[in-house]
Amino acid sequence: MSQNQGLLIVLSGPSGVGKGTVCQALLSKLPGLKLSVSVTTRPPRVGEVEGINYYFVNKKKFFEMLSQDKLLEWAKVYDFLYGTPREETESILNQGEDLILEIDVQGGIQVKQKFSSAVIIFLYPPSMEELLHRLKKRASDSPEDIQKRLHWAAKEIQVYTQYDYVVVNDIVENAVSKIQAILTAEKCRPWRSLSQGK
Ligand code: 5GP
Repeated sequence: MSQNQGLLIVLSGPSGVGKGTVCQALLSKLPGLKLSVSVTTRPPRVGEVEGINYYFVNKKKFFEMLSQDKLLEWAKVYDFLYGTPREETESILNQGEDLILEIDVQGGIQVKQKFSSAVIIFLYPPSMEELLHRLKKRASDSPEDIQKRLHWAAKEIQVYTQYDYVVVNDIVENAVSKIQAILTAEKCRPWRSLSQGK
């Protein structure tokens, strides 16, 4: 990574923990922050828009992108494939803009392995009961999906110690202020603050 690069931030955590809500709240507080749009083989849910929520592709296209090294990281989550487009990520960071990736826990660890300067944040549920409650509230998921996601979440939670930071998402505003504090502190790291003057 060259100097004057934007901050690469990963917000990860189990399904239903509230990554989307926290991410949107952060984006509205930090107008300079950009959100990465992932590629997925999952079909669009009602209301999802191509290029805004995801780039929706078939498996053939996904594997083509993978073989051409066009994905910065990728993972199979439940029955579908998800990945972060490399070119867009690098172009935003090279323009000195901060970029947030809202991705699963496997992807977050891959990002850190490739970019040691990335800041990876694990959003942790207040309790498993609360996580189940939040998963049930999501009308788009069937009861089978909810059970699958809860089972998966119990496994995902175990890797939180590999993250740079853990933030409990009890109240969204609190989680957002903690993340803002983390980003402020990260920008004061000597190798960033001297090269970026921020
Ligand atoms: P959903 O299908 O509910 O939109 O997303 C399922 C999971 O995939 C979520 O945990 C979401 O954060 C994760 N995800 C979305 N995009 C990516 C990506 O580009 N890479 C990885 N590793 N996970 C992703």
